[in-house]
Amino acid sequence: MRSVVIARQKKLGRKTVIVLPVLYPRELLTAMGVHAVELWGPPGPPRSPAAGRLQGYVCAVARNALAFLASGGGRDADAAIFPHTCDSIQGLATLAPDFGGWEKPAYRYLHPKGEDRPAARKFVRSELERLAGELARLTGRPLELPRLSEAISLHAEIDRLRRELLSRRPFLPLSDAALYRLLRRGEYLWPGDHLEELACAARGIRDDRVRHGVPLMVSGYVPEPMSVFDCLEAAGAFVAADDYAAVGRRIALSPPPAEGDPLDRLSGMHFRMPPCPTRTSDTGARMEYLLSLFRRSGAAGVVLHVPKFCEPENFDVPAVFRTFADAGAPVLVLESELEAELSAQSATRLEAFVESLKFKGPSR
Ligand code: SF4
Repeated sequence: MRSVVIARQKKLGRKTVIVLPVLYPRELLTAMGVHAVELWGPPGPPRSPAAGRLQGYVCAVARNALAFLASGGGRDADAAIFPHTCDSIQGLATLAPDFGGWEKPAYRYLHPKGEDRPAARKFVRSELERLAGELARLTGRPLELPRLSEAISLHAEIDRLRRELLSRRPFLPLSDAALYRLLRRGEYLWPGDHLEELACAARGIRDDRVRHGVPLMVSGYVPEPMSVFDCLEAAGAFVAADDYAAVGRRIALSPPPAEGDPLDRLSGMHFRMPPCPTRTSDTGARMEYLLSLFRRSGAAGVVLHVPKFCEPENFDVPAVFRTFADAGAPVLVLESELEAELSAQSATRLEAFVESLKFKGPSR
């Protein structure tokens, strides 16, 4: 499917850039006519022995990405962007070209860690300008600010629809698997095409409740394997609140200002995102955010779906436990390794967790 989308975008004269997780200035890429295709692994066994260039205690996301690039999996792309999400991805920016067989441009995108402050905004702006210069060399076209302004509006509308689909979950007649397939198509579709699909789904939101069963909040990195949703559904649960780094944590909490210098507006977007450990957000602020998301959704419990060996995600696990234990909300930690299918052991644990919630009733 991705190769069909890439071929179509290439016919339209757009360059394709592979983007590693998590956060990157998608508005800038759209404004410059660059088609972003995200690389979250991919799941399943590594596609080449190059994964062995990384230590066995590095996460599967980084190991699989290196193996994918080394095996020629990104041959249709024109460049790759490595955001500074963690040391592993930043290391890949060097490893992939030096040892991993990636011979096309490898751009870095550094985001500031921590909270909003003038120096951080200045830093984001200079990173945006630097990346825009690199993309201009790739595309042969400089960044045009009116186009950036249009792209900011386009992505704000995408965010609005994504937020609506997730927050009105009980009224949306889609299974979790279908909803997440739709949301994750934004990882490789041209944003205008993704917007049309989201708008179509949002028109299906009903006035009456159509999702029944045990509502859950899911927090984690990336919803892989996707069969986790089939398992939850079969157990009688559904996702009422999302805090996946790949999904809910990339939906801005408020829209950008309507006016002003587009580069300044885009710099500010970075600080409108929900708290995320990959940006070393303040833990207290993150716990407050999670608790409020949990309460608003009416969830009965939390599934913490974390990748094995992911330092940023695992740093926050004790705080999440403490926070939800204090709130009387059960938490299940589900560790994953980007496997293609959910293991029987994980499926059993999820089923048992949902069963225990059915007897317990809602938490507050
Ligand atoms: S899963 Fe965690 S450690 Fe691995 S690349 Fe992502 S943020 Fe980095």
